Amino acid sequence: MKTLPVAEHWYVARRLDGRITLITEPHVHPIFSANMYLVEGTHRDLLIDSGMGVAPLRPFVDGLRRDARKPLISLTTHTHVDHFGAVQEFDIRLVHEIEAGSLADPAPYSLNAAALSPGAMAMFAAAGYPPLWPMLIDALPHAGYEPADYVLWGAAPTDTVADGDVISLGDWQAEVLHLPGHSAGQVGVWHGHSGTLFGADAIYDGPLIWEGAGYDVAAYARTLRRIRELPVRIVHGGHDQAFGRARMIEICDAYLGLWAQKRLI
Ligand SMILES: [Zn+2]
Repeated sequence: MKTLPVAEHWYVARRLDGRITLITEPHVHPIFSANMYLVEGTHRDLLIDSGMGVAPLRPFVDGLRRDARKPLISLTTHTHVDHFGAVQEFDIRLVHEIEAGSLADPAPYSLNAAALSPGAMAMFAAAGYPPLWPMLIDALPHAGYEPADYVLWGAAPTDTVADGDVISLGDWQAEVLHLPGHSAGQVGVWHGHSGTLFGADAIYDGPLIWEGAGYDVAAYARTLRRIRELPVRIVHGGHDQAFGRARMIEICDAYLGLWAQKRLI
């Protein structure tokens, strides 16, 4: 296999407003390239998810923060590889209790696409994703990086979150929503004051993943029905671009209709 080029930047940040910054990993294949969000408050900052863990994340995040001396809460929405790869770099680590074990002690993972199960490959193709690359990355984070040495470390949570818990950053309070279906312990974050939903992998503007082992369509349908009723202004999903309420309803209805048609719900 020929050596991959070295990326100029591994992480890319885009300020979405005065408080929220989107962080992405453009050299990770679209299936595994999740959105991370830094939310800054007066007393604490919040980092929602931590990517694949291919390159150190904490120094990059601290470089974005207006005051990196404040506590930084890392919230893992769910324990799929693309959402908690760098969790061990953060000293405050929250996750839903259903996924506490898989955050602490994840199954080993490889960047070699050939290591993915045929079932997973078929499911991604059926969902409409582009074909995989030989590796899950198309560049190296630095010269000399060995993709074969990749380790999904994980780390024990320092606390767990449950539906209805409030995360306070001082001048910003948001509610934790338990959104099972795509994974059993997945959580989103709902800031009702601004109508902002961090939807994780429960809802984003791309093919949703609901089929196969570990997925629960009945629970997912309940989650989408619940999301559909929220007075949302903007959704920041676990993947892809942000979108508004009309598009959110369209996505919810498309999947609920599909599952009803397949007699899964
Ligand atoms: Zn996921």
